[in-house]
Amino acid sequence: MNQFQYVRPTQQRTAITAVAKDPNATFIAGGTNLVDLMKRGVMTPQKLVDINRLPLTKIEHQKNSLRIGALALNATVANHQLVRERHPLLAQALNAGASAQLRNMATVGGNLLQRTRCPYFYDVTLPCNKRQPGSGCGALEGINRMHAIFGFSDKCIAVHPSDMSVALAALDATVLVSGPKGDRSIAFADLHRLPGDAPEKDTTLEPGELITAVEVPDGHFTRYVSYYKVRERASYAFALVSVAAALDLDGDNIVAARLAMGGVAHKPWRLAAAEQHLIGKPATEASFRQAADVAMQGAKAFKHNEYKLKLAPNTIVQALKTAAAA
Ligand code: SF4
Repeated sequence: MNQFQYVRPTQQRTAITAVAKDPNATFIAGGTNLVDLMKRGVMTPQKLVDINRLPLTKIEHQKNSLRIGALALNATVANHQLVRERHPLLAQALNAGASAQLRNMATVGGNLLQRTRCPYFYDVTLPCNKRQPGSGCGALEGINRMHAIFGFSDKCIAVHPSDMSVALAALDATVLVSGPKGDRSIAFADLHRLPGDAPEKDTTLEPGELITAVEVPDGHFTRYVSYYKVRERASYAFALVSVAAALDLDGDNIVAARLAMGGVAHKPWRLAAAEQHLIGKPATEASFRQAADVAMQGAKAFKHNEYKLKLAPNTIVQALKTAAAA
């Protein structure tokens, strides 16, 4: 691991300034992804700004939304009464992620900002446009079993690994950030970006911007919800495909639906057309299968991930069935 400076400010403004004025500085909170990346030489910050002393752990209901501090631990959020009652989909997604030990260390902000687990990204001897722009994409013609079927470019076909982000995308969350130019909020759908010509940029955050909280609006998705994750072992594995599904039902009739997929794109993949298709339909397997067909339009596989073209629609159907039966 390279040598680095380490500071632990107690003021948010001090922390932001420290990162904003130094392109080789980065925030650290739980460190569950960053420390791995540093050990492997994938990220080599010269200054770590530890934000764990900042007062950003609160979880509270304000006006019409649940506000979750960026330093709240994943395990704390998943088990919090307000989250379990108001947003059980979020609790399910969090509990599907990583392992109990990691959920006790990882923070909300860090969960959103974790990097892809593409093996080429983690091996500094191999080409990877995300790690080293212009070096090529090893996965394009290489091992691409875990990779994207939507929204990729010829520069990068990686997927975003966060389970929590899939649920937050489905729930129309907002991300609150503070930076050198002040505070702003970002619709969750606009936080993560597609790779395009600049796969080294995972998000739309500006240099020095710090996520301070996530707000999840109140809604009708408190009962008929399911986070359905297909993976290679029962825990501590990233999604091959995951689906966050939430239904608002009037009897058997679908009044509203929310759907997002993980493991299929460079960002959580919201299925807006499929949601629209479900409105007014009966909550039956036939309706769910039609919605899955709508959701899969435009999907394209690579040499080793063709199985996702079948797995993804089947997972959508299964998630909707599980949600409807909740
Ligand atoms: Fe790198 Fe993206 Fe290609 Fe993976 S898919 S090797 S992260 S450029």
